[in-house]
Amino acid sequence: MNKNSSNIMALAPNTSNKRETVCIFGTGDFGRALGHKMIQSGYPVVYGSRSTQISNLIPKDAEVLGHAEAAQKAAIIIIAIQRQHYGFLTPLAEILHGKVLVDISNNLKLKQYPESNAEYLAQLLPGSKVVKAFNTVSAWALQSGTLDASRQVFVCGDDTEAKQMVMNIVRALGLTPLDKGSLLAAQEIENYPLQLFPMWKFPIFLSLGLTVFFFFYCLALDVIYTYIYENNNFSFFIAITIPNRVCPVMALILLALVYLPGIFAAIIQLYRGTKYRRFPDWLDKWMLCRKQLGLIALAFASLHAVFTLVTPMRAFASWRTSKGIISQVLNNKTEPLNNTNAWLSDSYLALGILGYFFFVLLGITSLPSVSNSVNWREFRFVQSKLGYVALILCTAHTLVYGGKWFLSPSAYKWYLPNIYMLSLIVPCAVLVVKFVLIFPCVDKPLTQIRQGWERNPKYSQ
Ligand code: NAP
Repeated sequence: MNKNSSNIMALAPNTSNKRETVCIFGTGDFGRALGHKMIQSGYPVVYGSRSTQISNLIPKDAEVLGHAEAAQKAAIIIIAIQRQHYGFLTPLAEILHGKVLVDISNNLKLKQYPESNAEYLAQLLPGSKVVKAFNTVSAWALQSGTLDASRQVFVCGDDTEAKQMVMNIVRALGLTPLDKGSLLAAQEIENYPLQLFPMWKFPIFLSLGLTVFFFFYCLALDVIYTYIYENNNFSFFIAITIPNRVCPVMALILLALVYLPGIFAAIIQLYRGTKYRRFPDWLDKWMLCRKQLGLIALAFASLHAVFTLVTPMRAFASWRTSKGIISQVLNNKTEPLNNTNAWLSDSYLALGILGYFFFVLLGITSLPSVSNSVNWREFRFVQSKLGYVALILCTAHTLVYGGKWFLSPSAYKWYLPNIYMLSLIVPCAVLVVKFVLIFPCVDKPLTQIRQGWERNPKYSQ
């Protein structure tokens, strides 16, 4: 036993006489890890196994018996066995009658079986009381003691008393039970460990799609066009120049997409005259992944900052600077400082730095450890008000930098607009509509609707 576990042993209350014996079917990874934890918490553990030979992997103080013999020793039996082997339990139905069976199993993929594993177990053994629990806890976390982030154990079952008994064990192990209701909830609980970043899927696919689109857009206009019409080989733009165009564009568009669903929601509420009707599904889903969209936008903005910082180190940048100096020397003419250009470049840099500052502030306040320490009003102030400030600053940064191309015909290679113009469409649309929404004649009814007022109340008094 390692040092850590012996400490826990010492701290565990000496209640082994009071705690009821728990039976665990299966001496696999999970059965052993849970057995260890239970013994540390003062539970006598008896294993039901196909082989009664004691291996040194099995917790020292546990007994190992055949399934039938072990089941007779306890009122609670934890089934630490894969669902496909549950068939061996049917002949034990009589012994298991009236006992609490804890189903901890998971599947390999979503919708693998028509019913949940726990419901299947309940169908196999109708005389037993089946409770679903522990499936979201990993054997590794149980054994290594790294359960800090996943202390919650979802529990569900049809028999209240049986559920209570299992929740008492969960508490005794130092974990937090969360009652999810009847056994019908088992399907949902079994799906939790199979989900892969559910909230991140849409933001990641959207960002990937847009990044690929903008990358090829820039490749066509900045590399292929210049190669065909100007005979310049700028293929090295692929490494830094194009990514440094795509990243700010992505950051700005994704930041605008964080605020766009709020605008749609406001328009829908104003149109319906009530907040008591559900938003369309697509809008609900979009609203739920705003944090993820914002964090991806912040990642793109950070990459843009790094790419910009390395720009002066590039051979292309020093070649362009020396070309300018040599042409002045050859013409014997020093070009005077263009004050307008100096203002423009300093302004867009300042706007970019300030925009990035607010962007980072939004990212930091979205971290659970920070957001938990502010109240709802403070959180809304940062995420909504300061978020709009970030959007205004970043849009202005792009406008000041790319605005000069709007009226220049040379910017429309192959009649296509420059990437900066494309990037401004969504943010400008969001800002213009938001500007309209804060007019008192629009804001007042919207605020009333959000406070519960209805234009055509369904239940009039
Ligand atoms: P495992 O290491 O493969 O152990 C499964 C155990 O089932 C075996 O050691 C064996 O125990 C028993 N078994 C195998 N075939 C059997 C059969 N034909 N008839 C009767 N018993 C049989 O699997 P595990 O990782 O411990 O997982 C066990 C269950 O816990 C699974 O349903 C899994 O989804 C769930 N779970 C696992 C984890 C995890 O982190 N591992 C986390 C959450 C949930 P004996 O040799 O003693 O009979």
